[in-house]
Amino acid sequence: MFRLDAVRASHFLPSLLLLIAGLAAAYAKDLSVFFTSLFNVLPTLVLLLGGAYCAVYRRQRELFLMLTVYIAYFLLDTQTDFYRDNGHVRDDAAVIFHLVCLLLPALYGIYGVWQERMHLLQDMVARGAVLLVVGAVAVALEQRFPAALLAGLADIRWPALHGEWMSLIQLAYPLFIGVLVLLVVQYLRAPRPLNAALVMGLVGLFWMLPKTFILPFTLNIMCSQVMLMIAAAVAHEAYQMAFRDELTGLPGRRALNERMQRLGRNYVIAMSDVDHFKRFNDTHGHDVGDQVLRLVASRLGKVGGGGKAYRYGGEEFAVVFAGKSTEHCVAHLEAVREAIAGYAMRLRDQGARPHDDNTGRQRRAGSRGGAVSVTISIGVAERHVDHRNPDDVLKSADQALYSAKAAGRNCLMVHGLKTRRGAERAS
Ligand code: GH3
Ligand code: MG
Ligand code: MG
Repeated sequence: MFRLDAVRASHFLPSLLLLIAGLAAAYAKDLSVFFTSLFNVLPTLVLLLGGAYCAVYRRQRELFLMLTVYIAYFLLDTQTDFYRDNGHVRDDAAVIFHLVCLLLPALYGIYGVWQERMHLLQDMVARGAVLLVVGAVAVALEQRFPAALLAGLADIRWPALHGEWMSLIQLAYPLFIGVLVLLVVQYLRAPRPLNAALVMGLVGLFWMLPKTFILPFTLNIMCSQVMLMIAAAVAHEAYQMAFRDELTGLPGRRALNERMQRLGRNYVIAMSDVDHFKRFNDTHGHDVGDQVLRLVASRLGKVGGGGKAYRYGGEEFAVVFAGKSTEHCVAHLEAVREAIAGYAMRLRDQGARPHDDNTGRQRRAGSRGGAVSVTISIGVAERHVDHRNPDDVLKSADQALYSAKAAGRNCLMVHGLKTRRGAERAS
């Protein structure tokens, strides 16, 4: 249920930095006119830019989250402006503040876990309808029964649980805690930047509300930061989509192309390819093939010696060693090749039975008691005077890989050398 192995500190980092920056700015004293003017327009600016950005990526969930935060900002900002101008709060300040303390976490939680599964337009209508209905009910209650609503909201339902420090209405605390648990569970089930940003955003909002009338720009700053966290998470995910391979989690071809532009004077490129993978797929099925690719990627991803692995495409992987020589890299690559060859992977889906006897016989031949294994071949090339261009080095590594295949597979060949390294007999 939980995918703890996919949890990353990097998912939280942008939001954490924004949160810390928000706290620092909120506590800063004697702000210059530049900053006070900036903070006045910041939430609207962030909503417009972030909203447009989410709209381009067709991310309605994030758009409505931003809208919810902005509406809360707008309602409370009207109150704090009045307070600043007149020295006392408006008559409806308490009821509006309490309503926001309830509806902000509630709507934030609803939009936060509401996945985008429907048709784009239906989804927008459904989300908009929720916002409208909640808003309309709140306004109607506030207009018709202001006193009863205020009394109901401010009521201390559980005196035993009430602490002196609680500056929000009592109901807000279980609500915040419930939404926090929900969002943390969502993150643990699907660890991705957006789900991490939602958790951090809720923490920011929870910190902000009690300070609304105390610290001058808390509201403007924290609402902007939370909207920025959401927009930054959309950008982070878009980046991952472009540069990371979804199946293996390794950086993909585009990331490799970028890296190749920035290689220095000395580097080594290794190309590796899974041996007889077509046959493996035919025998065990594409899903088992995918599991094997993940395994190979995870081993290559941990290659020592400063190497960085990329999924080049299909069952081919490139490893780049910046600032290194061939002698330095070969032992590390050999260690990975041996580890992969020696690893017997237990089949997760034993129910995927062969369709015919022939396939079954092949499958048993390639398996070791319900486990399967694969080998890889590796070609290595280093930059030197004859080929200075990274593309040329990559081509040479590819030629060396071809030689490794020709030499019997499950081995490593260095470009320009005739001797093969690796297992004496390949499958
Ligand atoms: P060789 O030892 O010469 O490399 O033989 P091979 O069968 O591995 O070579 P070939 O390039 O002909 O086959 C590559 C196979 O890799 C074909 C395709 O079915 C499989 N493949 C490519 N991408 C994926 C993938 O994402 N998942 C799975 N399961 N298979 C893939
Ligand atoms: Mg291939
Ligand atoms: Mg292959």
